[in-house]
Amino acid sequence: MSRKIAVLTSGGDAPGMNAAIRAVARCGIAKGWEIVGVSQGFAGLVNGEFLPLAARDVGGLLAKGGTMLGSARCPEFSKDDVREKALRNLNRAGISSLVVIGGNGSQTGGAALNDMGFPTLGVASTIDNDLVGSEITIGVDTALNIALEAIDRLRVTAASHQRGFMVEVMGRKCGYLALMAGIAGGAELVLLPEIDFEPAEIAEAIHDAYRRGKSHAMVVVAEGAKYNAEALVRHFKTQSTGFELRATILGHVQRGGVPTAYDRLLATRLGAGAVDALDKGISGVVVGMNQGVVSTTPYAEIVGRTKGISPDLYQLAHVLSR
Ligand code: ATP
Repeated sequence: MSRKIAVLTSGGDAPGMNAAIRAVARCGIAKGWEIVGVSQGFAGLVNGEFLPLAARDVGGLLAKGGTMLGSARCPEFSKDDVREKALRNLNRAGISSLVVIGGNGSQTGGAALNDMGFPTLGVASTIDNDLVGSEITIGVDTALNIALEAIDRLRVTAASHQRGFMVEVMGRKCGYLALMAGIAGGAELVLLPEIDFEPAEIAEAIHDAYRRGKSHAMVVVAEGAKYNAEALVRHFKTQSTGFELRATILGHVQRGGVPTAYDRLLATRLGAGAVDALDKGISGVVVGMNQGVVSTTPYAEIVGRTKGISPDLYQLAHVLSR
């Protein structure tokens, strides 16, 4: 059956989004469907910015971070009249379903469109890994590897100068990236939004590392943690922790970069999974990866929820820091 499917990327860009767009386009084309890209996320939907995606248009994308469709924050999409305008544009363009590649906010926007009667489904993509419905989301692996490379480099200079580094990593209100970077990077301490802490406890933990004979202290701070890296370094200016402390904020460096093999494969499988679901007449779900299998979770189980961190892994990070 001839169908016209639109695909957009929304929220923060995540390495691998391009592979997901490519998979949606080529798997859809293989079914005889017409595929249309939407520029700049929901903003492009509201402004009617559609572009045809043929097989050649999505070539050469696998090794590119970011998103070839562009992404944007579009807060007004939570208003009914704005979404109605988007719906009019979709209907006028003869589009029958929409694939939303993005994180929590984006899937909430997709769910709102689906509730208005337009068949929509999501592909789990955010470097934060805070989205329920997929154990791992597109972009996490690349962002984690970038954070790790920075941590490894900082440790070299930290050990040479007996310094402590507070390395701030992205992740919004979720500590997943910080926790995993802390474990894989051998951090002395990880500070997460999910775990309450006071500066005195941090100072004591760093000082304790010094007393145990460590040549450096690496503290991985999640961006959503109670205190940020710079504030903590300022706070400890006059306090002895054994190490001279410095702050490094990785920020958006974590978003760019060449997607890892893992992210390319994950994005490809989830993009293909979205086409499979649409082919079976399924919408109102997010396509994710669970226990190694591409699976779908209804929007109702996703919207308004965020994934927590594993207390066992947090405990492990603490034990390993000895
Ligand atoms: P990331 O966290 O990786 O940046 P995200 O998808 O969670 O990804 P957000 O900025 O939270 O990013 O959301 C992206 C877009 O989704 C928003 O700019 C807005 O257009 C839309 N959106 C968010 N919340 C809602 C909502 N409640 N109703 C409708 N649309 C929404």
